[in-house]
Amino acid sequence: MHRAIAPYSNFKVGAALRTKAGKIYTGHNIESSSYSLTVCAERVAMFKALSEGERVFDSIAIVASSGDLCPPCGACRQVLSDFAENLTVVLSDAHGHHETHSLSNLLPLSFSGKNLKTENSNADAKREGRVKAGKAKG
Ligand SMILES: [Zn+2]
Repeated sequence: MHRAIAPYSNFKVGAALRTKAGKIYTGHNIESSSYSLTVCAERVAMFKALSEGERVFDSIAIVASSGDLCPPCGACRQVLSDFAENLTVVLSDAHGHHETHSLSNLLPLSFSGKNLKTENSNADAKREGRVKAGKAKG
């Protein structure tokens, strides 16, 4: 959290993403003067891990400078769900309290790549032989 770059909000967040193999990738929020370009700690950690080739994740821990529990924002929930829909999310506060949630409980009925399949893409896949028994090979 101490590495967060948050000169505008002074709201600093740190995240630690753990892979299934036990490797930890940390992230900290990075603010832009054009506020909407700011990136949260959770997405920084996920993108660091993805860019290093990681694809299988176990859990993410999140802590904020406010001292209170800091659940991930909606954008982070979506990105985390895209790459780790079964992720465990651990929220910690400054007093040693923590809560553990499943990402699927934090983002029920989530949107995913499955929703991007169209009738045409399914027909194209069948025509190209990429589909057997109703499933795409990728
Ligand atoms: Zn976020």
